[in-house]
Amino acid sequence: MFKKILIANRGEIALRVIRTCKEMGIKTVAVYSTADRDSLHVRFADEAVCIGPPASRDSYLNIPNIISAAELTNADAIHPGYGFLSENAKFSAICAEYGIKFIGATAEQINSMGDKASAKDTMKKAGVPIVPGSEGLLTDVKQGITIANKIGYPVILKATAGGGGRGMRIVWKDEDFEHAWDSAKAESGAAFGNDGLYMEKYVQDPRHIEIQVVGDQYGKVCHLSERDCSIQRRHQKLVEEAPSPFMTEKLRKKMGEAAIKGAKAVKYEGAGTVEFLVDKDRNFYFMEMNTRIQVEHPVTEEVINFDLIKEQIKVAAGIPISGKNYEPTMCAIECRINAEDPANNFRPSPGKITNFHSPGGHGVRVDTHVYSGYSIPPNYDSMIAKVICMAQTREEALATMERALSEFVIEGIKTTIPFHLKLLKDPNFRAGNFTTKFMETFEY
Ligand code: ADP
Repeated sequence: MFKKILIANRGEIALRVIRTCKEMGIKTVAVYSTADRDSLHVRFADEAVCIGPPASRDSYLNIPNIISAAELTNADAIHPGYGFLSENAKFSAICAEYGIKFIGATAEQINSMGDKASAKDTMKKAGVPIVPGSEGLLTDVKQGITIANKIGYPVILKATAGGGGRGMRIVWKDEDFEHAWDSAKAESGAAFGNDGLYMEKYVQDPRHIEIQVVGDQYGKVCHLSERDCSIQRRHQKLVEEAPSPFMTEKLRKKMGEAAIKGAKAVKYEGAGTVEFLVDKDRNFYFMEMNTRIQVEHPVTEEVINFDLIKEQIKVAAGIPISGKNYEPTMCAIECRINAEDPANNFRPSPGKITNFHSPGGHGVRVDTHVYSGYSIPPNYDSMIAKVICMAQTREEALATMERALSEFVIEGIKTTIPFHLKLLKDPNFRAGNFTTKFMETFEY
């Protein structure tokens, strides 16, 4: 087992990894930018190394500085968390070169799933259902319009290097194609430095349901059931839950088998997520595979009573998995609390937290790195806490969430708590009756 793990991340996920390391008797090294000096991950790690100024490209994305910090502290493994370098094939390869175990996918696995257009091809060959669309990248507007007419409008243009919902445009007719093409290309070029686009049939009113998988170094892969992430705003997740209210035993079996087939096709090692769209007739289609731990992993942990970070570390250390699949035995829901003003178009609201009181009690888990007196830097993602509530039924978990959020005190900044409280009162949400379109008509 590893003796010391460096966590190449910040915020709640850095703290989350530190907690598991402590329980496993593994020493931890935090890295931080000068903007994060006062963050809890710095305080709770055994050692901490400053890796640069606030801008992410100079600190949390600064590979030489992070590798130096690992060498300096004698860390034998690096956990990348999510975002930043977690799906960076070059970083995974450099870690390997330096004899530091990257707790995540290999460069080869990241590459094969990172390019979304070719990932779809790989999945198709493995027999995983995919959304009909262009095979590979589109070359120009004319070819795009021809394919759109073949598969039938509406279609969605997507960035092959995409992430975080950027570089996507829905197109309903020929006349709108060129404009959508130009803006999707411009947005993905600016965001990812790669403006390659591919096309899919736009699935109307789908659910976003994803399957958690874990693979070991010996070719065994299991699934750990699903998460429903259909409550999204601009393709970004706001609320996640497990099990999906739309799931049936038969569908879980089919989707679980498909996810395992896909992961096996790339000899997947570590924890990963296979994302699907599910239509109203319960047809499901592969969208992408994330080769990292995800923000919403706690809902899975709570419904199957399983520490996913511990499993990542064990698998990276070469310990084989049993190979058995997991079924949910509880219901869990997660609300992402962002420093944003939901009454003002979710505009970021960084600043100093003047008063902070975290909810607690039976069935409540709060993953956060902030505290009273903490100043939220404007440089990073606006998520400041995740509230996860679990109970034996969905109805009870929702009641616990309402109670927990009503206890949550965060003063000095705006947060998305009032939005979540309103969502929890919505009869359709309450009934489990929603798709990815829900937020388009939900009035906050
Ligand atoms: P990203 O990696 O940027 O998050 P995804 O491919 O995971 O992009 O898609 C994000 C969201 O966009 C999905 O959860 C879904 O709501 C919507 N979406 C993507 N592809 C389609 C499609 N073919 N039809 C309908 N909605 C889609």
